Order: sequence, then structure tokens, then C-alpha cells
Amino acid sequence: MENPIIIIGGGPGGAALGCYLSKAGIPNIILEAAIFPRAHVGESMVTATTRIFSELDFLDTMEQTGFVHKYGASWHPTASKAAVHVAFAECPQEGIHQDYTYQVDRARFDELLLKHAENLGSVVHQGARVKKVLFDGDRATGVEVDFSGQTKVLSAPLIVDASGRNTVLGSQLKIKQKDPLFNQFAVHAWFENVDRGPRPDDIHIHFLPIKRGWVWQIPITDTITSMGVVTEKEVFQKAKGEYAAWFQQHSQSAPDIANAMRDARQVNEFKAEADYSYQMDSFVGDGWMLVGDSARFVDPIFSSGVSVAMHSAKFAAEQIQQALAAQDFSQAALMPYQNRLKQGVSVWYEFIQVYYKLMPIFSVFIAKPEYRLQVLQLLQGDVYDRNDVPVLQAMRDFIETVETTEGHLLRPYLDGSLKLDENTPAPHELV
Ligand SMILES: Cc1cc2nc3c(=O)[nH]c(=O)nc-3n(C[C@H](O)[C@H](O)[C@H](O)COP(=O)(O)OP(=O)(O)OC[C@H]3O[C@@H](n4cnc5c(N)ncnc54)[C@H](O)[C@@H]3O)c2cc1C
Repeated sequence: MENPIIIIGGGPGGAALGCYLSKAGIPNIILEAAIFPRAHVGESMVTATTRIFSELDFLDTMEQTGFVHKYGASWHPTASKAAVHVAFAECPQEGIHQDYTYQVDRARFDELLLKHAENLGSVVHQGARVKKVLFDGDRATGVEVDFSGQTKVLSAPLIVDASGRNTVLGSQLKIKQKDPLFNQFAVHAWFENVDRGPRPDDIHIHFLPIKRGWVWQIPITDTITSMGVVTEKEVFQKAKGEYAAWFQQHSQSAPDIANAMRDARQVNEFKAEADYSYQMDSFVGDGWMLVGDSARFVDPIFSSGVSVAMHSAKFAAEQIQQALAAQDFSQAALMPYQNRLKQGVSVWYEFIQVYYKLMPIFSVFIAKPEYRLQVLQLLQGDVYDRNDVPVLQAMRDFIETVETTEGHLLRPYLDGSLKLDENTPAPHELV
């Protein structure tokens, strides 16, 4: 191979791909626009990510850095009833030898992972913003990149876009499709003195008394807690840029959060994440691939983003090895990667859809002994083989029962605007 493979972006997707390629002896360059450390949303992990850390020899770094250990998740209904808890220890996972995952300061985590990629052999350039991907006909051949004000052209046999929600290549090719069902927005900041309650290291999800509204509570250090309010676009628009008042209004609307935040002190600025669910028409083309958020982003209710980014890096690396052996970087040769990733993310998506359709369904299924472990398995992120998650069909059947049973107790909780029938353009129609 004359030129190394180019990876656009050094977040978890791009850095993990660099690690996998270097471990396989495949030269690669990571072009990262920012200078790390840089802040980033997405601080709570799922346990399936641990397997990737092990494969990349990165688990020791995670441990030595002292990131908060996440043993489970807690879900708080709108009225102050008892929260529902799950602990990862209940469902051991193959190849994972610990009963926790991590909550991270993304500035620190991303910096360490990118450094690890460099140590394993990736050539890393920070402050290198890719302006566009260059094509010869339909085939990607290189990138135009801005190195601190100087534009350079780099050629490569394969360009991998891992630029996150910036979606460099997807935007350039105009292949981005906004999600037809979800239009969620978030406002978040870090706080001290949040009362984390009896399970301080869990992620806590608090439901809000508005449609598809919820709050995350993620411990970042012993003293700092990340809090984020998520709502639909029409609710968010009422903020009119006044994030503090808007955050205050919604976070105080559920008793458990109001109580947790009674003495809280904000330690950094509010940030807004807008309009974030989408997918690209295609994840691969002649001479290019999309990894992580640059391919698809689904609602973060189940903390899936970093896991999907790192799994997509793993799948991409396996596909690249095959393509390299065959000296074939055509769209057809790369297509198995697309199919594999779409399958996995569509399971997350289906779970998210079912969840928003009937938010109490989660508590109902966690309480059923025959389904509890299957729900837990989903929450742990082992979703890449749909045959492993029969609970999704059981949830759809349950929703149908609620919909068709006059006087069913859960009927008032159904989101009538969200259709799960054949006409719903998800999840498999989207694949
Ligand atoms: C509200 C919200 C809450 C979330 N919560 C969670 C959570 O709790 N847990 C979780 O796992 N995920 C969460 N996520 C998702 C998570 O943030 C992402 O899925 C994850 O960061 C994806 O990693 P990535 O490497 O694909 O992209 P990114 O992490 O975004 O990395 C992309 C990198 O590319 C660089 N870049 C961009 N443009 C260019 C360019 N032109 N040239 C060069 N470099 C470029 C960027 O600087 C960046 O460093 C959340 C997302 C949102 C919106």
C-alpha cells in the first residue's frame, strides 16, 4: 500500500479504528480538527465497550485513570415512586471479566484513546481540519486538509470518515436523512453537590412529565455530576437560547431531580446539542467508509453512542483487512460492513422506538423474570446479532395488547403519534 489509510476525526470511532488498524499492521493517519483535550457530550458507557477496551489493550488505562465505575442504571418515574434499578452483575457477558463499565470525562477519555492510537502506530495530526474529500469520478482518492491555515492534499486508497455529528463526507455527498420519528434536543452542564442518592455510581434517568422528555444524571468524578435535559424540538424551541431558565424549569418538574439538585452548584457553561438523530443513505462507497456518528446517530437514551462508534471501528477494521487482501476498496467489497453495522444499530433503534412508544414498558419488562436478563443484555450493548434479542418482539406484542385492550391500565401512557406498524419507516425498512 503506497499511502496510509486516512481517518477523519480522532474521537472514539476514529481513534479505535486507528488502534485496530495499527494492531493489524495497516498504516493509517488520523486527522483531528481539534486540539485535545476538548469537551464532548456522551459520558456514560455500556458494558459491551469493555470488550473493545480489552482487545485494544486499553483496559489498564481505563482502570489506572480512575474513571467512575458504573455498576448499573436507575430509572425514575415522573412522580416520586420507587426507581427501577438494574445491575450489570446480574447478567455476566462473554469475554468481560468485570461487572461494571465506566462514566467518563470525555475530554480525558478521548485524549487518552487518541494517545493510545498514536502509541500503537497511528500517525496523529491534531489541529488538522479536513475541508473536503477528493474524488476521481465516484471514487474517493484523498482529502484537502487545513493544517493551521495551510491547505494540503493527501492521497489514500481509502478514506474513513469518523468526524462525528459533523458528518464531513455525508454532508458533502448530501446523503444525510433526518430521522423521521425523533427530533430530540439536549441542554447539559456539570454540577457539584448533586445528591446522587443510594446508587451514586449508576447512571440515573429521570422521566419528565412531558412527551419524550427525560434528564440524565451521570457521575463524572467523586464530586462532579453531569446533568442533561432532553426534550422534543417544540419544547426546546421555547428556550429561545435562555438555557439556564429552561434547564431550571424542566429539571425542577420531576420530584427526584428537584430533590437531587436542591444544593447543586453549576461548574461549567450550559451546552446545547440540537437536532441530532439521522442516518446516511449509505455507509460505504468506492474508496470510502463511515464510522461512528458520521454514519448514523440514534437517540442517546440508552448510552449507546460510544459503544456503537467503537464497534463500528472494529467492524470497519475487519472489513478493511479483507479489502486490502483482495486489493479491492469498491463499494461492493465494503458492503458487508454496512450491513453488519446497520443491523446492530437498528436493534438499538427499535428498542428506542418501543421505549418512547410506551415509556413504562421498560419497568414492566424488567419486572418479568423471563425478560429481565434480555432487557439487561440490551442495556449492556450486546445487540449486534438480532437473534440474540427476542425481547424486542415480546415488547412489540405487549404494546399491541395495550393498544387493543379497552381500559388497559397503561393505555394513557401510549404515544399515539409514534406508529410501530408496517408503515413505520424503521427499523428494518431503514436497513
Ligand atoms: C445529548 C447527547 C447525549 C449523549 N450521551 C451519550 C452517553 O451517555 N453515552 C454514549 O456512549 N454516547 C452518548 N452520546 C453519543 C456520543 O456523544 C457519540 O456517539 C460519540 O461521541 C461518537 O463518537 P465518534 O468518534 O463517532 O464522534 P465524535 O466523538 O464526535 O468524534 C469526532 C471527531 O471528529 C473531529 N472532526 C469533526 N470534523 C472534523 C474535520 N472536518 N476534520 C477533522 N476532524 C474533524 C471532531 O473534532 C471530533 O473530535 C450522546 C450524544 C448526545 C447528542
